[in-house]
Amino acid sequence: MRALLFALAATLATPAAAQTAERLYVMDCGHNAATDQARWSPGVNVGKPIELSDNCYLMKHGAQWLLWDTGYPDAVADKPITGPIGTATRPKKLAAQLAEIGVKPADVTYVAVSHTHGDHVGNVDMFPASTLLIQKAEADWAFAEGKQPPFKKDRPMKQLAGDLDVFGDGSVTVLSTPGHTPGHQSLLVRLPKTGYVVLTGDLAHFKDNWDNDRVPSMNTSADQTHASHAKVVKVLADKQAQLWINHDKPTSLGQKHSPQFYD
Ligand SMILES: [Zn+2]
Repeated sequence: MRALLFALAATLATPAAAQTAERLYVMDCGHNAATDQARWSPGVNVGKPIELSDNCYLMKHGAQWLLWDTGYPDAVADKPITGPIGTATRPKKLAAQLAEIGVKPADVTYVAVSHTHGDHVGNVDMFPASTLLIQKAEADWAFAEGKQPPFKKDRPMKQLAGDLDVFGDGSVTVLSTPGHTPGHQSLLVRLPKTGYVVLTGDLAHFKDNWDNDRVPSMNTSADQTHASHAKVVKVLADKQAQLWINHDKPTSLGQKHSPQFYD
């Protein structure tokens, strides 16, 4: 009996070995030709244009799929949008990129969004049956009275209050990183060969801003932004993780895009 108890205690004390997501596809979810990069780096490179990438990331975990961010709406592929920030274009539709690898929207178990800005949630409504992973603080802010809803609120939604180990095995972890918006989040992914990767969302928009811990003018909290940067710096060190900055075009140009994938 005592041996059995010891064995049981040992089992309980040892956390389940972290598993991995099997594949990660980087999908082209748009581009922005922005007219003034100082919008993101106040006082620095004022009036200088910058090209920003905008990716979606699709992960396979066993028989399940998780999509991180949905990019600009697919309609932008037919009709680019010019606004105060610049011109948004979409060389390829998300629907077409999913079809190319044989994934249907109904196959996607989870859609997780870094935050509710239009270049990240443009296609959330393409996945009405998927469970949306979003911070409660973000949902409360996005659906506040008087604001234009970013997508249909009546849908499966899991509202988080902090980090979440999505599959319970350490393979895909939502990291709460507020500051850009009240409920901004990033994603830590573990792959068998690539190792750990942090997908930034808009924690930083380009490498120079990350390196200099800058706070874009539209961020909702400078203090939270600095704290979230510090949190991810620690994760990168602890996990020996790579940092993939979504809107950093040079980073994106150096990456394999779907139908190729990282494993
Ligand atoms: Zn963005």
